[in-house]
Amino acid sequence: MQQPHHKGKKMSKKTNNEEFCDFCGRNAKEVNHMLNGIHARICDACIDQGYNYLFDTRKSKAAYRIDDKNIPTPPQIKSFLDQYIIGQDDAKKVISVAVYNHYKRISQPIHDEIEIEKSNIVMVGRTGTGKTLLARTIARLLKVPFTIVDATVLTEAGYVGEDIESILTRLLQAADYNLAAAEKGIVFIDELDKIARKGDNPSITRDVSGEGVQQGLLKLLEGSIVNVPPQGGRKHPDQKMIAVNTKDILFIAGGAFDGIENKIAQRINTNVIGYGASSKKAKINKDNLLQYINPTDLKSFGLIPEIIGRLPVMTHLEPLDAKALRQILTEPKNALTKQYARLLELDGIELTFEEEALNLIVDKAIEFKLGARGLRSICEAIMTDFMFERTELKKKSLVVTRAYAERMISKTNQNKLFA
Ligand code: ADP
Repeated sequence: MQQPHHKGKKMSKKTNNEEFCDFCGRNAKEVNHMLNGIHARICDACIDQGYNYLFDTRKSKAAYRIDDKNIPTPPQIKSFLDQYIIGQDDAKKVISVAVYNHYKRISQPIHDEIEIEKSNIVMVGRTGTGKTLLARTIARLLKVPFTIVDATVLTEAGYVGEDIESILTRLLQAADYNLAAAEKGIVFIDELDKIARKGDNPSITRDVSGEGVQQGLLKLLEGSIVNVPPQGGRKHPDQKMIAVNTKDILFIAGGAFDGIENKIAQRINTNVIGYGASSKKAKINKDNLLQYINPTDLKSFGLIPEIIGRLPVMTHLEPLDAKALRQILTEPKNALTKQYARLLELDGIELTFEEEALNLIVDKAIEFKLGARGLRSICEAIMTDFMFERTELKKKSLVVTRAYAERMISKTNQNKLFA
């Protein structure tokens, strides 16, 4: 918003008696309305601009206000997550506690020597099991700025790719550059496993996208003041930087860690054979080794111990079986079938899926090895034709039967559907 130019008083009373806006200097003939004050005038364009400015700042402040007194309790957080995410009870519980502790910690003034450490989280689980969805849903509950970054695009400064600081640029953008809000936001770092050191031995040659990036990330995770280029991109000597304190930013990292089951199995076997082996040892479920994951396994996978130390809360996500996929299709608050039904309802069309059609969608998702991610592309394949023609067809309802679903899926290029 432009500042009023105060010599405007004289200017606004020109000899030809024309009126000028004291804020932008525009002539009365150039504007729709001119409001007269005691000592100044303002035109409708300036009022509009001022109104929008105030509206935006108030909105961004209000949008990100964490109500410190009413932080939801862990059971409340979990039941909110239950509305959107099927299964994954372990992960939900662990994350609910970590998030609650995190926001309690940052809402308390530090008044004694006990400094509660940040509870950054790492989630291990196959792709499409709900890691991103969990992080996103938490951010939605707490109304904090949230951003997702893909660890694979990060490189050490000076190499092709994105600087580590770009993570914070994105968070700032998500917060409409409201620094205070960004500093209490949540960052989801996807594909953390992709920056693991290749091989167990630290390499002598530089590992551009591996250990160097881990070192860079460490700085953000442990809580420090980082200079961030507001528009992203490479740091530029003349660019004005924003100093972002990462102390209260919650980092949630996720990764599939393909093959980590072998490391877990190795560790468990060694323990069983070695000292302390006893018949009392709990029975190991070989089909779901991920549930036994611990920090040692992440180290064997190639994460540096410092990073693991900065991600103290660890949890795993279960692979989704047919039952879970079937629930995902229909049960969550914004389940896919509910979304399609709502879309068609807007055109006055009633949509129903027959039980057998739903089972087919699940079977196909498993067959195509797409997990939950595939449910959407299969539903799209089934629905696209009807969605395209819906207004012309003048139908008041659509019942998706197994036969209809099969026909639509077979019409779609199968290459599109395979993982
Ligand atoms: P990940 O981050 O583990 O690769 P996502 O969270 O991106 O997986 O999941 C992909 C999509 O699959 C989500 O948008 C969501 O629709 C669906 N999905 C995955 N897991 C679940 C789940 N447990 N409950 C409900 N929907 C899920």
